[in-house]
Amino acid sequence: MESASLDFLKDLLATPSPSGYERPIQDVVRNYVRDFADEVRTDLHGNVIAVKNPSAKLRVMFAGHCDQIGMLVTHIHDQGFIYAQTIGGWDPQQLIGQRMVIWASGGPIPAVISRKPIHLLTDEERKQVVKLDDLWLDIGAKNKAEAAELVRIGDPVTLQLQYQEMRNGLASSPAMDNKCGLWVVIEALRRASKANLKCGVYAVSTVAEEIGLRGAKTSAYGIDPQVGIAVDVTHATDCPTIDKRQNGEIALGNGPVVFRGPNMNPMVTDRLLETARKKEIACQVAAAGRAVSNDANVLQTNRAGVATGLVSVPNRYMHSAVEMISLQDIDRSADLLAEFVMGLSGEEDFRP
Ligand SMILES: [Zn+2]
Repeated sequence: MESASLDFLKDLLATPSPSGYERPIQDVVRNYVRDFADEVRTDLHGNVIAVKNPSAKLRVMFAGHCDQIGMLVTHIHDQGFIYAQTIGGWDPQQLIGQRMVIWASGGPIPAVISRKPIHLLTDEERKQVVKLDDLWLDIGAKNKAEAAELVRIGDPVTLQLQYQEMRNGLASSPAMDNKCGLWVVIEALRRASKANLKCGVYAVSTVAEEIGLRGAKTSAYGIDPQVGIAVDVTHATDCPTIDKRQNGEIALGNGPVVFRGPNMNPMVTDRLLETARKKEIACQVAAAGRAVSNDANVLQTNRAGVATGLVSVPNRYMHSAVEMISLQDIDRSADLLAEFVMGLSGEEDFRP
């Protein structure tokens, strides 16, 4: 991976983007794609669309959601403690004892989120899983007045953003879901932009996926692509306690995961797998028997239908502070998408 590309990934991971509050990360995206996209636009919903070859008849859309799960300030307690709702699907157990950041209008405010210590939990409380209501944010304020001067109701909150490289080319950070998928679609556009493309490529940094796939829906309507490929994370099953019988055999470092199933167009899926074989890009195959819970879901039913593919990045510990991926997997995923569009003649018919 080129160092500028790795820096771009680190910039994405260091920039907050809870659903509905994606502007800072979209600024990072807009700034980066300027050098190689023919056209960069932002729609009214906040999706950023970077286009190569906009006049082509065949339009291929790549969707990588830029939003991350987070929290939203709902109440400031008399003593200055701060309560928040969740944005997106949290396991509250994952929040206990985390360092957090409140992204207030005056600048980021460090916070911690926790509950009373084990010594003080009743026997009954020790047996129960923690509920969100039992957790509060603490910024060290003396009282409500001090906290309220800094923090407003509706300010977004994230985990403290930090990137850590691990052994064997693995890396850990909050919100690998889906900043690594966003990285893949933008990097694929950059790699493909050097070729003589026969199709239009629309790499979209979609918003609000974590609260119902909303940005993919609006951006796909606007672009009206014939082919759409979503890139998101999927569960790696190469760690203890995950059942491979239903979730498949997916390992970090074994390459992008190409999904098969009714949410995917079989010709797009076959072409992705054929591209991987021809270009010697290691990849894995997974199956999903229902409408998937990511942008591929709404891509497929856009307007009169879109030939949809789903390429996923294996991820351990999804929706936690320590989401882990393989850098080689995202590099290969970008290659796979770039080779896919570079191999199109522009005359393909994906009607199954
Ligand atoms: Zn996601």
